[in-house]
Amino acid sequence: VNPEIAGNRLSLDFVNLSFSPGDARHRPLSWQLFIDFLATKQIISAERSTQLEDLAETDPHRAATLLGNAERLSRALRESFSALLRGHRVHREWVDPVNQILRVTEGHDELALDRSVWKLEFVAKEEGLEWLLAAIARSGAELISSGTTRNLRKCGNPSCQLLFYDHSRTLRRRWCSMALCGNRSKVAAFARRRRPEKARAHHP
Ligand SMILES: [Zn+2]
Repeated sequence: VNPEIAGNRLSLDFVNLSFSPGDARHRPLSWQLFIDFLATKQIISAERSTQLEDLAETDPHRAATLLGNAERLSRALRESFSALLRGHRVHREWVDPVNQILRVTEGHDELALDRSVWKLEFVAKEEGLEWLLAAIARSGAELISSGTTRNLRKCGNPSCQLLFYDHSRTLRRRWCSMALCGNRSKVAAFARRRRPEKARAHHP
């Protein structure tokens, strides 16, 4: 979980978990990565996180089932978001895994303070393990149904797969992270500008 990369939406941060900045390769979700994510996002407490870490050994079947569902949700969201980014239609089969999680997780909305802003947050009833995915599915569903895609962005680095929600007033955020892809791009542009000078120096 890279804290430098603000997806600004739970579902975007979750989808980003399968990629490293500037790297097009998809990496499979590991149990540890998934639990760390839930803890970082305060979906689970530190105590619950330790219990869940043990689940991979105490009940590997349940852990594998949940991880499989998490992978399926991630893929479904990624496909839906890519379609939104390209202005394409979101297909029913991509939405199905999202609906499946929404269906099995009962819960309610609650106002929660995020820094100084009140946000409507989904609080799932803790039944079964699928509730762990409820808030993520909910966040994804909100994004898919919002109809507005101008805030949804992919990092400006062509090989970077990371997505973010640009909530700046000017909507000019270009990079997943200025420190990572932003600087890399600046360095590359700088090198491009420098190269002709060097060439001229060698061949006057
Ligand atoms: Zn990037």
